[in-house]
Amino acid sequence: ALLITDDCINCDVCEPECPNEAIYMGPEIYEIDPNKCTECVGHYDEPQCQQVCPVSCIPFNPAWRETKEQLMAKYQTLQAAA
Ligand code: SF4
Ligand code: SF4
Repeated sequence: ALLITDDCINCDVCEPECPNEAIYMGPEIYEIDPNKCTECVGHYDEPQCQQVCPVSCIPFNPAWRETKEQLMAKYQTLQAAA
């Protein structure tokens, strides 16, 4: 999963780009629900939020390192629940 750092300027650009609706407005800045973020696996080749963020504040979350297989399994679980 990815993570939004406190460099976020709340520009609102990333939220509509997320195919999993994992990005939401938190108490102060935008946040990512790691249970919904597949790093865009299943939808796109690259994390879409990273591509559009003007201040490059969306790194990989060091506490949520996942393999491509785990991310694909998460994608399939999310699709089944949708
Ligand atoms: Fe959403 Fe993809 Fe960004 Fe994860 S990497 S928050 S799935 S846009
Ligand atoms: Fe914050 Fe970047 Fe998303 Fe803009 S695109 S709301 S700066 S994380």
